[in-house]
Amino acid sequence: MQHLTTEHLYPHNIERAADILKRGGVVAVPTETVYGLAARIDNDEALRNVFAAKGRPSDNPLIVHCASIEQLATLVQMTPSALRLADACMPGPLTLVLEAAVPISEVVTAGLPTVAVRVPANDVLRRLIDLVGVPLAAPSANVSGRPSPTTAAHVMEDLAGRIDAVMDGGPCRHGMESTVVDCRSVPVVLLRPGAIPASKIEHVLGHNVRRAMGSEEGSPGMRHRHYAPTASIRLVESMAEMRQALDDAHVTRTRLCGIVPVAESLYADLRAADALNVEQILVLCDHTVQADEVLWNRLRKAIES
Ligand code: AMP
Ligand code: MG
Repeated sequence: MQHLTTEHLYPHNIERAADILKRGGVVAVPTETVYGLAARIDNDEALRNVFAAKGRPSDNPLIVHCASIEQLATLVQMTPSALRLADACMPGPLTLVLEAAVPISEVVTAGLPTVAVRVPANDVLRRLIDLVGVPLAAPSANVSGRPSPTTAAHVMEDLAGRIDAVMDGGPCRHGMESTVVDCRSVPVVLLRPGAIPASKIEHVLGHNVRRAMGSEEGSPGMRHRHYAPTASIRLVESMAEMRQALDDAHVTRTRLCGIVPVAESLYADLRAADALNVEQILVLCDHTVQADEVLWNRLRKAIES
């Protein structure tokens, strides 16, 4: 892969970021969920560079980020559920899976008949999409399989030299990916739990969501290795168990650290643990954590990999 000098940009350099994207470059952008690795949706070479930079399997489709609900509605066939959710949750960390209304590159959709769309809450990103004049497709801006990046420094850790630029918008507010919902049927189908709780979607629609059955029905991305730090993860069920493990490690001189997981900082904590060069990360996984659909989903993916 060609070595690039990755520019570190800030919101006042937004014109420069727009210029790079317009010309078919790849730029990491801040969102309210995690940093995304963006390319314009009408340039297959740029889109392929997103997959190459991340080492992302080509069968894992990208989310299309739009500047407004109006722009989003030009790409997909909205359904009554999609309209209600868009009205209640956008801009915000909700991704709708719908049938395409116009031809969309197969590099974006991985050949699926559907496309995933959202309107991010980050103002800088929406302004950037406006300046480019075309929606941007963006997966998370990490090397595939690593924890998602929630700061520009995380992006540089993984992708410096592989992408044209990173737009530094500070730490991501949610620190957790968007919720992905297939809105083609009633009830709607939750394909990936995320920053918007399923209960909020149920409240807006007035019906229960159906959870995707097994990994075959969920978002293609949920089948891949995911969210994993370099150190191994060990789940402990109580603080007492965590204290005991830390004491034992002191005796055996094993390098360990402990995390009490919180959605907003889980990925940052896993990366920080790796930076400390520990062999094992103990993660508290008591009833509260197991009852948290998003945290439990990501922790399970991280230990499976
Ligand atoms: P990432 O932004 O890295 O979390 O990746 C985007 C997520 O959206 C992945 O889990 C994809 O599998 C999922 N996704 C994108 N497009 C679709 C689609 N058309 N149908 C179902 N899931 C999708
Ligand atoms: Mg990802």
